[in-house]
Amino acid sequence: MLALDMRSFNLLAALQCAVLGLVLMGMQRNFPSRIQGLRLWALAALLALGSTVFYGLLGVLPATLVGLAGNGLLLACTVCLLAGTRDFFGLPWRWGPWVALCGLSLFGLWVFFDLWPDYRPRMLIFGLAMALICAAHTRTLYRHGRGFASRVMMIAMAWQTLVLLARGLSTYWVDLPTTQRFDPGSPIHSVFVATFSFTILMVLVGAQLMASERVRQEFEHLARHDELTRLFNRRAILELVAQEHERFQRLGQPYALLLLDLDHFKRINDTLGHQAGDRTLRRVAEQVQQALRATDQLGRYGGEEFLALLPASDPASARSLAERLRARVETLPPGPDNTPACTVSIGIATVLTTDTEWDTVLNRADQALYLAKAAGRNRVAAA
Ligand code: GH3
Ligand code: MG
Ligand code: MG
Repeated sequence: MLALDMRSFNLLAALQCAVLGLVLMGMQRNFPSRIQGLRLWALAALLALGSTVFYGLLGVLPATLVGLAGNGLLLACTVCLLAGTRDFFGLPWRWGPWVALCGLSLFGLWVFFDLWPDYRPRMLIFGLAMALICAAHTRTLYRHGRGFASRVMMIAMAWQTLVLLARGLSTYWVDLPTTQRFDPGSPIHSVFVATFSFTILMVLVGAQLMASERVRQEFEHLARHDELTRLFNRRAILELVAQEHERFQRLGQPYALLLLDLDHFKRINDTLGHQAGDRTLRRVAEQVQQALRATDQLGRYGGEEFLALLPASDPASARSLAERLRARVETLPPGPDNTPACTVSIGIATVLTTDTEWDTVLNRADQALYLAKAAGRNRVAAA
């Protein structure tokens, strides 16, 4: 049943690695440079390709050269896969210990090729070294991976670790020194080669899925957030208001809106410059965000206007929160880099049963803001 044609398997693995390596290189060129790890994953695919080419030349090149080059490239591939994953997650990475592990393993392999030729300790050394790298990779994916793609990659790596250990250990205790690696009658070697082909496919496809998922998340984040303040942008906060209004209509739980507008903000821009204005906006956004409850949502509604959505709020609690926000901004001392103190006016509107649309609530908040401005600024008004 397991008498697979190992050379065909090798060829398939080589083609797979070539294609996946090229795709990863293409992604590395086209994806935002913030997405790390793609270069190392692509390199790993090419190293795996190199190793399968060497294994395929068994019988053509001297066995020692095939063994050392093939296994060396496979060790390097496995380390690069791990390095790529750590890079992708933004985790620290040191090449030193892994290069030393590969170097020592290759030295051990050479000893049992040339000095005391014996196939079994070679398998054991190689199996243990590879299993160690794959186990470290499994652990990294377990601790830092989120979502389907990283789970697939983790399972493939865990399975590879087990097969490597099984092959290394079983070869050492079960095989004869003369057993051939591509012996079709050796099930564990067939399983190893098949597992390797499968693992490299799963890991490289998993890497591509992880990178694509990261890009999607980044674009989604950009589409919903304001770059300057990192708050929700106008579209996103209005979507949340619309959802809250639907909930109000279904369940009757009231909500309130606060529209905040910085007072005489134009003066800050005119006297201290646009950058000081930007710093002021960031600072006020941060302060207001910190003062809100975890369930409240805050967005940048316009230039220097912010919209806060307060679920489960009645007029009294909305007013006391608004008053707290106003006082917090007023008492904020001037910040570093010429960032001035400032004040804010706030318009409050609480939803009424007669409000069939959310924008009527927002209009009331806008009218209330106008009242607060007209009454002299740095104050709270409700409508
Ligand atoms: P009021 O008290 O009546 O609100 O006066 P104001 O000066 O704050 O109001 P106005 O709406 O006239 O000015 C808003 C200013 O906000 C105008 C615009 O240049 C500035 N602004 C809008 N977006 C940004 C931004 O992203 N950065 C900076 N620095 N300024 C901005
Ligand atoms: Mg203003
Ligand atoms: Mg304004």
